[in-house]
Amino acid sequence: MIITENITKNFGSFEALKGISFDIKQGEIVGFLGQNGAGKTTLMRILTTYLPPSSGKVLIDGIDISKNSLSVRQKIGYLPETPPLYINMTVLDYLKFAADIKDVNVKRRRFQLQKVLRECQLEEVKNKTISTLSKGYKQRVGIAQAIIHEPKLLILDEPTSGLDPIQNHQVRQLIKNQQDQRTVLLSTHILSEIEQIAHRVLMIKSGRIIVDQPLDSLLKPDNDQSPPLTLEAVFMQHHSLQTSPATPELTAEPTSESTGASHE
Ligand code: ATP
Repeated sequence: MIITENITKNFGSFEALKGISFDIKQGEIVGFLGQNGAGKTTLMRILTTYLPPSSGKVLIDGIDISKNSLSVRQKIGYLPETPPLYINMTVLDYLKFAADIKDVNVKRRRFQLQKVLRECQLEEVKNKTISTLSKGYKQRVGIAQAIIHEPKLLILDEPTSGLDPIQNHQVRQLIKNQQDQRTVLLSTHILSEIEQIAHRVLMIKSGRIIVDQPLDSLLKPDNDQSPPLTLEAVFMQHHSLQTSPATPELTAEPTSESTGASHE
């Protein structure tokens, strides 16, 4: 579903991506992990054709994104870190608008609107103005616009960032429910989330993929007698950090290497 070959991205003299290659199969839910500034958003923006790579090749469902970005966009649903919502519109009007710009067939439009309202549990707020909704609802509206045209691939940039535990659970469940319908690539800093929903983990560090592995094999201990590893322990190991109850946040203790990579 996604094949990348040696993708690089330079911002001036800074190399944000340094030769990214991977192959994501149809129907997989892939957790995309990395510290702040590692290159997750940059790569997601390249995959969704919002940013051209400096070099390398991306195929989405067999189509080269540099040759046919319009048909690639039809295949992708994207929820950026900041959802692209028109907050003065009602939920229903906004989703009608999204269906319009994504060219959802007129005959299917009504059906699709009802489907995403139901799937994203937005029926009870469909006539409310988006600005009046809680963050969890806004995030679900963001996902609804991303799936309104039935994309084969859904790309979500930190979809649960800033949500409370209940909202978090609802959005996670919504993502999990996508697996029969489409491939999902999601970035998050919440490692337990990935443990619960992902089949596979891609980890990026300073613009390079350092882990590309099925979740169960990644968490398998060396010794059969030992309990499975946690994703937090694996993440810390790959960033040369010790796991301890005092350092649960990925972003709290940047390594000197990651600090060097970040130009934010
Ligand atoms: P976060 O978890 O904080 O969202 P990220 O992994 O998504 O981080 P990116 O936003 O992809 O990281 O940024 C990767 C690196 O590229 C960072 O050092 C960032 O400062 C740099 N960068 C991103 N966009 C630009 C830009 N338009 N111009 C210059 N540098 C940029």
